[in-house]
Amino acid sequence: MELILYKNTESKLPYEMAIIITDECINCGACEPECPNNAIYEGAEEWRYADGTDLEGQVVLPNGKEVDAYEIQIPISDDIYYIVPDKCTECKGFHEEPQCAAVCPVDCCVPDENHVESDEELLAKQAFMHYK
Ligand code: SF4
Ligand code: SF4
Repeated sequence: MELILYKNTESKLPYEMAIIITDECINCGACEPECPNNAIYEGAEEWRYADGTDLEGQVVLPNGKEVDAYEIQIPISDDIYYIVPDKCTECKGFHEEPQCAAVCPVDCCVPDENHVESDEELLAKQAFMHYK
């Protein structure tokens, strides 16, 4: 079967991408409280899988990665707000569109071509993080 990847996040086609924040971010902070997965952090802020999710202790993520949900992780960016790809579901399961992109005043929340997942994978990730 041929695998076709799509760049349009509004597409109804099966492959979607996590969202990434570009260096055009002005650090306004508008996106962070809008994320239903707590996947957005301020630059230089440490993050955890457990933050804003139901994950506790040792877990195996849907992508097979084994992690300690409570373990403090190093920031992905020191300068600007960043999104943790493992926690971003493109808002699937909560909203019709990515909420960070909807509120960003400078449109710097864009599809991350390095993190392509299907609708099913994103929904499975959402259900995995919010099972209670
Ligand atoms: Fe969070 Fe949704 Fe933005 Fe992903 S797309 S970082 S889940 S607000
Ligand atoms: Fe940066 Fe946009 Fe988030 Fe503001 S809303 S912190 S500009 S990504």
